Amino acid sequence: MSLNLKSLVSVLNAKWIGSNADVLIDHISIDSRSLQNGSQTLFFALAGVNNDAHLFIPDLIENGVQNFVVQYIPEGFAERANFLVVENTLFALQEFAAYYRNLFHFPVIGVTGSNGKTIVKEWLNFLLSPDYNIIRSPKSYNSQVGVPLSVIAINEKHNLGIFEAGISTVNEMAKLEKIIKPNIGVLTNIGSAHDEGFLNLVQKIDEKLLLFKDCPIIIYQKNEVVDSCLSQFAAEYMHHPRKLFSWSFQDKTADVFIEKREHKSDHTFIQYQYKNQVFNLEIPFNDSASVENAISCLLVLLNFNYDQETIQNRIEKLYPVRMRLEVKNGINNCSIIDDSYSSDFQSLKIALDFLESQKKKGASKTVILSDIFQSGFTNEELYSKVAQLISDNKINRVIGIGPTISSFEAKFPNSTMFENTADFIAEIDNLNFNNETILIKGARSFQFEEIVSLLEEKTHETVLEINLDAITHNFNYYKSKLAPNVKMMVMVKAFGYGNGGLEIAKLLEHHKVDYLGVAFADEGIALKNGGIKLPIMVLNPESTSFPSIIQYQLEPEIYSLKGLNAFLKIAREKNLKDYPIHIKMDTGMHRLGFENNTIDELIATLKGNSTVRVQTILSHLATSDEPKHFDFVRKQIALFEKLSSKLMAELNINPIRHILNTSGISNFSDAQYSMVRLGIGLYGVSNDPLEQKYLENVGTLKSIISQVRTIPAGDSVGYGRRFMAEKETKIATIPIGYADGIARLWGNEVGFVTIKNQKAKIVGSVCMDMLMVNVTDIDCKEGDSVIIFGESPTVIEMAVALKTIPYEIMTSISQRVKRVFFR
Ligand SMILES: *Cc1c(COP(=O)(O)O)cnc(C)c1O
Repeated sequence: MSLNLKSLVSVLNAKWIGSNADVLIDHISIDSRSLQNGSQTLFFALAGVNNDAHLFIPDLIENGVQNFVVQYIPEGFAERANFLVVENTLFALQEFAAYYRNLFHFPVIGVTGSNGKTIVKEWLNFLLSPDYNIIRSPKSYNSQVGVPLSVIAINEKHNLGIFEAGISTVNEMAKLEKIIKPNIGVLTNIGSAHDEGFLNLVQKIDEKLLLFKDCPIIIYQKNEVVDSCLSQFAAEYMHHPRKLFSWSFQDKTADVFIEKREHKSDHTFIQYQYKNQVFNLEIPFNDSASVENAISCLLVLLNFNYDQETIQNRIEKLYPVRMRLEVKNGINNCSIIDDSYSSDFQSLKIALDFLESQKKKGASKTVILSDIFQSGFTNEELYSKVAQLISDNKINRVIGIGPTISSFEAKFPNSTMFENTADFIAEIDNLNFNNETILIKGARSFQFEEIVSLLEEKTHETVLEINLDAITHNFNYYKSKLAPNVKMMVMVKAFGYGNGGLEIAKLLEHHKVDYLGVAFADEGIALKNGGIKLPIMVLNPESTSFPSIIQYQLEPEIYSLKGLNAFLKIAREKNLKDYPIHIKMDTGMHRLGFENNTIDELIATLKGNSTVRVQTILSHLATSDEPKHFDFVRKQIALFEKLSSKLMAELNINPIRHILNTSGISNFSDAQYSMVRLGIGLYGVSNDPLEQKYLENVGTLKSIISQVRTIPAGDSVGYGRRFMAEKETKIATIPIGYADGIARLWGNEVGFVTIKNQKAKIVGSVCMDMLMVNVTDIDCKEGDSVIIFGESPTVIEMAVALKTIPYEIMTSISQRVKRVFFR
C-alpha cells in the first residue's frame, strides 16, 4: 500500500487539520499497542462506547505516529500531528476500505452464512492456493471492523480474494458488501446461530443475501426458504446474468445432487450428479457440518472448472481448521503462542501484534517461522519484508525452518536456520529455550505441531480456558453503564475470581481501568512482580504485611483505628509523605469498616497528617442484587453519603468515593459517585437473568475422556455403588474430581457435562480426581473433549443446583487446573 494522505481527505470526507499532507501512507492501524505503527501509519482512532482509542493518541505521537483519523483532537495536540477529523471513525475505516478495494480488479469470493464461514474460507484458500496468490480474511475477521482490516491488506501481487462476512443484525451487511464487492458468492449453512438479532429466518437470510447484491454467481445449498428468498432477491437486485449454482442431498433439480452419502470411520464417501454425469468423492471427515462445508468448496472448484482428479486430490487433503491463536505454558518458564497451522505474510503481522500483547515481563521474544508460501512476491522481496517486520517488532531471536528462509539467513540478525523440522528437533535441547515468549508459526507441511508439543509444559488434560475477548466485551458492557468520568476499579481478588489474575490484570491495564482490587497483599505483590503498573488497593491488609505493601507501592484499605495507627507508625518510620490509603466505612454490611461512632477519632487522627493521604473513601453493599432488600441498600447509600461527607468536610479533602459492586452498577446507577468496583460481571456472570444475556461467557472448564466402557444391566459405577445400571449403559471416565473443585453434590445424576454438544449425566459419586458420566446415547471415544462448565452447563445453573452462588464455583477450581488464555 502506498497512498497519498492528501488524497484520503476527500475520500473520507474529512476535515483536514495538519501541517504535512504529502505523507505516503503504507500501513493502516487501529491497534495502539502494535509495534508496526510508524511514521507512515494512518491510525484510525475507533471510539467504542467506552473503549476510546483517542486516549492513546498522545502515546502514539510520542512513539512516532504522525497521521490520525479522529472524531476529535485530544486537547493540546492539534499542532503535533496530522489529523483527518470525521464524524465516525468506524464508518471512515469502512469507507476507506471500500475505496481501497475498488483499486483492485481480480475475482473475489465472498463467504457468508451462519456456520462454517471461516472453515469454508480457509479450505478454499487451501484448495485454490496452488494456482492463485490469495488474499483472505485472517482468522475469523468477519465483523464491521474485521472486514475492512482484511480488505486493506490486499496488495498488487494478489490475484484472488476470499473474504468472509458475519453479521448479527439487520443493516450490517450493506456496509460489508461495499467493502468486499464479491463476484462469487458462497452461502454456507444458514442454521439458527445468532438468531437474536433478527425477527425470523427469512429476515436473516434476506440480510445475508445482500452480500451478493452485485454477484454474478451464488453458490448455496438448495432449500425452499432460501429459494424463495432468492427469487424475491433477484427481483429486487436485478443483475444480469446471475447464475444460481446449488447443491442438495434431497432435491434432484439442484445443479449438484448428492445421491449417496456414506460415513466411514473418519471419512465420508459421496456420490454426486453434475451435468448428467455421476462422480465419487472422498471427504476426510465424518461429521455432517464438515461434509456440508466440503461440498460448498466442491461447488466453487466446479465453478472454476477444475477436473475431477484435481478436485479429489485436493479435497482429500482437507484438514481441521483452527480459528484462533492459543497461548500455552511452555518449558523453562517460556510461554508459547501456537499458530502452527498457517504461514502467510498477513497472518504473520497479526501474530506478531499478539506476541507483543502476550509477552511476559522480563521475557524475550522469539519467533519460530517456516518458509512462507504463495505470497505473490519474489522470495527476495518477501523475506526482506519479513525481516523488516521482525525488526519492527523487536524480536530477540529468530529460528527459521525451511530451505528458502534458510537461504536468507543474512537478512535476519540473531537467527538460527534449519533446513527442516527434523533438523530443528534434533537440536532443540541445545537451543536453550528459557524465559521466552515464543511464537510458533509455520505452514502445515512443516508439522510445527511437533515443535509445540515438545516445548509445551506437560500437565494433565484438564484446562480452564479463559476467553480474553469475552472479558473485554463484559468490561465494555459495564463501562457503558457509567456516567462519563466515573472511574472503574476491577476486583481481581482470588486469582481474578479463579480465572487467572495476572493475565486479566494485563488486559485491564491495556483497557486503562483506573484501579485493581485484591484481597491480600500477596496477590498485589504477584501482580506488581508480573509488571502491572496500575494502582492496586488491598482490601484486607494484615499489619504484618504493611512493610511489603509499602515496598511494592500497594495501597491499603484502612478499616479500623488500630490498623490506621499501625500503618502510620510504619509509614512515619519510613518517612513517607502523602501515602495513598483507602478509608472503608461500615454502612451495614458489618464486615470491615469504620462505624459511625469511630468517625470522630478517625478525623482527629487524620487531621493535619501529611504521612498518608485519603485517596478514596468506600463502603460495600450487602444486598445490591436482591430487590426485596433494596430499601436496605438505600439506607447504606444514605449513611455512606453522610459519613463520607463529614470526613471530607472536616478534613477538607475531595477524594474518590465508591460503593457499587457489579449488581450495584446495574441497580443503583445514581450512586456511582466517582468510581465503581466491578467484580463478577467482568467474569461473565450477572445476578440478573436479563442482564446475563448481554454478557459473554469467560471461563470454560474442559477435560477429556480417559476411558469408555459398556456395563450390563445390574452393574454399578463408582464408590458406594450409588449408580445402578437399569439397562446396558455406556460409561465414560473423566479425569477431574472434587480435588479440582467439582463439588461432590454435583454427582449422582444431579449434574452433567457436555460431550459433542450433548448432555452426559454424572453417574455415581464424584471421586477425588475423576468422575464418570453416562454416554449411552453419545457417539464418543477416548480422548474426546468434555466441557465441565462454560456455555453448558453454566456456572449459574450449577450454582442453582448446588444451592450456592457462581462466585463459589468459580473460585473453587483448584490451582492445579491449568489456565489457558485465548482471543
Ligand atoms: C468482591 C468485592 C467487590 C466486587 O463484588 P461483585 O459482586 O463481584 O461485583 C466489590 N467490593 C468489595 C469490597 C469486594 O470485596
